Amino acid sequence: MITWGCQMNVYDSARMTDVLRPLGYTPVTDPAAAEMIILNTCHIRDRAAEKVFSELGRLRLIKDEREAQGHKTVLAVAGCVAQAEGEQILKRAPYVDIVLGPQTYHRLPEMVAKAARAGGSVIETDFPAEQKFDFLPEAEAPQTVENVTAFLTVQEGCDKFCSFCVVPYTRGAEASRPVASVLAEARRIVASGVRELTLLGQNVNAYHGEGPDGGTWTLAQLAYALAEIPGLERIRYTTSHPRDMGDDLIAAHHDLPALMPFLHLPVQSGSDSILRAMNRGHTADDYRRLVDRLRTARPDLALSSDFIIGHPGETDADFEATMQLIRDVGFAQAFSFKYSIRPGTPAAGAPLQVKEALKDERLYALQALLREQQDAFNDSVIGDVAPVLFTGHGRKPGQMVGRSPWLQPVHVDGPADLVGTIRPVLITQRLSNSLVGNLVEECVPA
Ligand code: SAM
Ligand code: SF4
Repeated sequence: MITWGCQMNVYDSARMTDVLRPLGYTPVTDPAAAEMIILNTCHIRDRAAEKVFSELGRLRLIKDEREAQGHKTVLAVAGCVAQAEGEQILKRAPYVDIVLGPQTYHRLPEMVAKAARAGGSVIETDFPAEQKFDFLPEAEAPQTVENVTAFLTVQEGCDKFCSFCVVPYTRGAEASRPVASVLAEARRIVASGVRELTLLGQNVNAYHGEGPDGGTWTLAQLAYALAEIPGLERIRYTTSHPRDMGDDLIAAHHDLPALMPFLHLPVQSGSDSILRAMNRGHTADDYRRLVDRLRTARPDLALSSDFIIGHPGETDADFEATMQLIRDVGFAQAFSFKYSIRPGTPAAGAPLQVKEALKDERLYALQALLREQQDAFNDSVIGDVAPVLFTGHGRKPGQMVGRSPWLQPVHVDGPADLVGTIRPVLITQRLSNSLVGNLVEECVPA
């Protein structure tokens, strides 16, 4: 299983592994030893399809070599590039056996059988009427870091159609898993020793799953129910859309200590005209007000965001408005990208595409400001005692690593049995992307 892209793909790869296990497949790390190779692809970055074809070329050599030794290899392309390119993959790489979109993973055993029977290629990129989560087997191996933190997909797809984004076309319409199925999976994961769960969804806070009472539950309701699970110490969710930040979710940040005070809430731009062109459905001031409300509910809340620089039509004044929003809000961390054309999306054909050199210049300035803010945020915790959830060994001997409530990696010298525990750490130093500290006796609650 070769996985590219977001955490949701990592989760999906684990589910595909689960669905194939009853057929006798178990994961291997060396493609040359694999009877089946699944390339789980990502379409969000530039030239995604080209990267897939070049990897397929490499995998073909392995497939041919195994064939020469009398071993068959099933080669499958899954994920968002499979969904977007469909038939094109079989045209350009006819040696591929299976092409399957993200909503069809529960049908994988059927496709494997079909490919074996027919000897030709099988393609499944429709959005099936049934929900894949109703048909996937129970998650066997949660995606965990040393069995301490895990991801759990609760929502998929998107109906928002931002001008620049392929997700509504590759992941399909928004859909939420029923509450009972999420809670059952969460309980199993926690029973296996996991202390922190991150709920995943392209628009996770648009969650509207069928509740046990027959009504529709929001993400906040789900969070309250998850917080009741004994042993589950930390809950996070990503990625959220500002438009779906309901009052009850803001209140949950006040009420639930387990809901961690770090929120990835992408704003993309600080210019109202660009936000309108992006079809984001909110203004820069809406975002500022939302952040104020969140910080009133949970004063230690830190924020992260995504930014797109150089969306078609972005002027110097629009860019300056983004810089101003960053100065006003203050981000603990952020991802920033140059706008790049995704064929088939509304912005792809828009006039006034911004020149690459100008995008570079703006991105450089924006990243410098974000870096300053990230360093300042990390400096602000030096001298504090923070509760750190330990997840594993650091690079140096005797060193252990964990995460603060604000998702900062923290290194300490300590014993191996720290893993899986939350311990107070006095933060003493900032490195470029992590913190260093000492274990102490008392913890000042986050
Ligand atoms: N649903 C999330 C939201 O609305 O904020 C974002 C999901 S998207 C998978 C992750 C990020 O990729 C986006 O927030 C955006 O910043 C970036 N992205 C998406 N399409 C892009 C494009 N065409 N060019 C540059 N960045 C892009
Ligand atoms: Fe893409 Fe997020 Fe916009 Fe949906 S809300 S279209 S996933 S950027």
